[in-house]
Amino acid sequence: MSAVVTEPGTTEGQAGQAGPREGAFGNAVALACRECGHRVALGPFYACPECFGPLEVAYEFPAVTREQIEAGPRNIWRYKALLPVPTDIETSPNTEPGFTRLLRADNLARELGIDRLWVKDDSTNPTNSFKDRVVACALSAARELDAKVFACPSTGNLANAVAAAGARAGIRTVVFIPSNLEQPKQVNSAVFTENLVAVDGNYDDVNKLASEIAGEEDGWAFVNVNVRPYYAEGSKTLGYEIAEQLGWRLPDQVVIPVASGSQLTKVDKAFQELIRLGLVEDKPYTVFGAQAEGCGPVATAFKAGVDAIRPVKPDTIAKSLAIGNPADGIYVLDITRRTGGAVEEVTDDEIRAGIVLLARTEGIFTETAGGTTLAVTKKLVESGRLDPAKETVVINTGHGLKTLDAVSGRVGAAATIAPSYDAFKAAGIA
Ligand SMILES: *Cc1c(COP(=O)(O)O)cnc(C)c1O
Ligand SMILES: [Zn+2]
Repeated sequence: MSAVVTEPGTTEGQAGQAGPREGAFGNAVALACRECGHRVALGPFYACPECFGPLEVAYEFPAVTREQIEAGPRNIWRYKALLPVPTDIETSPNTEPGFTRLLRADNLARELGIDRLWVKDDSTNPTNSFKDRVVACALSAARELDAKVFACPSTGNLANAVAAAGARAGIRTVVFIPSNLEQPKQVNSAVFTENLVAVDGNYDDVNKLASEIAGEEDGWAFVNVNVRPYYAEGSKTLGYEIAEQLGWRLPDQVVIPVASGSQLTKVDKAFQELIRLGLVEDKPYTVFGAQAEGCGPVATAFKAGVDAIRPVKPDTIAKSLAIGNPADGIYVLDITRRTGGAVEEVTDDEIRAGIVLLARTEGIFTETAGGTTLAVTKKLVESGRLDPAKETVVINTGHGLKTLDAVSGRVGAAATIAPSYDAFKAAGIA
């Protein structure tokens, strides 16, 4: 197992090792295996020593009230009591993501035939995707574990968020991406870090390389590899915010894009925690997952009614969702089945149409991941699986300026004319 601590002999999680400082992870008490429940001490660990299942942060929450949360800052740290971060987290430099808009989307609702619809718009985070949330939590863990390098394998947005957060925190960053990534996403990382590494391969190749480096090098915190349990908790804040912004209640239905599947599983975890803490009323809700046909291993397994997810080689314009071997795919199947939802997939053309639909109805420019979520929502309504009479939230996870090419062939100037009134009239634009 790889680790980020540098002292010899402290990297394997044995009893008696030098651990992180008291309070470094707030109300978190251990890492627990999602498969067998085995617990290990909080540290730079991500795989269960008993069964190699994924480790997840476990807490002992104190009483938390709505008023305490509402008195907090207008970013994810308002939920710090529910995250693996120290109680003074606001005082260490980070990009302060979160508390993004939950927009009532009546035009889009009318277009889709849904009664009450909201868009949770995470394109307005500091680096314009939901990844700023997870990176802020990973940064805190990296700092508490004394990491020297803050790193990630990325489909693009994560690299942007890591590079920016590292710059602000004054920690060295190295980000790895597939070399065929969209140019804007490359520039959006390179502007923050000197160490953008383009790898000739797909995301799954990049991820494998990162795991290898994490195993060989001391002091590297790969946000989604060896500090993944802390990273993943950041996605819970999407769920907390949706509930708080709806007036402290859960939506009936939520549609979430699926890459590794982490975000979807953590929104569900957030809803469960809010119920358990008495912050919202217990009620049933339905979770839907959205994938692209060119990379839909979880959707394929869902439709086939099987548990095994067969890895695929991604081929889709939705590059931010192009993870062919999704680590949390199996839990996405569990949650969508348990809640009566589904995982659906759409074509690249449907994704492009989804981007334009959201833009023309609500004035929100989403990237290909959001186009996927929109197109899947439409497909779910049309096939009768999403109930149009129930309150629905769709999550927009990233900004369209990062994937301009996806729609540049579809939208553009209606006419190119001479600068004269006659030419304007002749063009027939009323
Ligand atoms: C990373 C990402 C997702 C999904 O992430 P998970 O790996 O499933 O948690 C969704 N949308 C965008 C824009 C992303 O960058
Ligand atoms: Zn285990």
